Amino acid sequence: MLDAAFFRHWLTSAAALVDREAERLTELDSPIGDADHGSNLQRGFAAVSATLEKEAPATPGAVLTLAGRQLISTVGGASGPLYGTLLRRTGKALGDAAEVSEQQFADALRTGVDAVSALGGAVPGDKTMLDALVPAVDALSESFGAARDAAGEGALATTPLQARKGRASYLGERSIGHQDPGATSSALLFDALAQTAE
Ligand code: ADP
Ligand code: MG
Ligand code: MG
Repeated sequence: MLDAAFFRHWLTSAAALVDREAERLTELDSPIGDADHGSNLQRGFAAVSATLEKEAPATPGAVLTLAGRQLISTVGGASGPLYGTLLRRTGKALGDAAEVSEQQFADALRTGVDAVSALGGAVPGDKTMLDALVPAVDALSESFGAARDAAGEGALATTPLQARKGRASYLGERSIGHQDPGATSSALLFDALAQTAE
């Protein structure tokens, strides 16, 4: 079973990974975006870590909804509301249980990923974070490691795609040949999750 401490650990590990990889995320966002994805998420996840440490919410649902609210209020770019919605809706779906099973988490995360798709109007193949999130959540019922691998493969597979949503879509065919920054940061979230579960 997964408790609040597990989810706090996941998000603080994600913050550390995002911090370490911020420069690379921003580099990926320069040819097909506005070169701020790393700094956007660095700021957002640092705020998430600080808030979780201060408030230490007692249930998995409360950890995720607080983190999601924090991302929405601290990240100005498209990724803030999208990741914020992912965590908030996943947290809401978990309700107020003190512990949740891996399957309950996988089901809740599916609700969160669906909410990201509804908010941004993107589906897999559009060269967005959903190209990593959807395969990861599909694999999560199997294991955390399988979800991490699926997210990583999904991020790599965005390179040959033409962007149909977000800033990169303004480039049309010129978006082809570049890995999507948001799919790359989504893969980091699943790296952190697999590390936390080890
Ligand atoms: P901004 O584009 O506002 O500068 P970021 O650079 O932080 O925001 O985030 C860009 C990432 O957000 C993209 O690489 C993509 O993965 C994701 N993204 C953008 N628009 C959408 C959307 N409509 N649906 C899903 N993900 C999106
Ligand atoms: Mg950007
Ligand atoms: Mg921006």
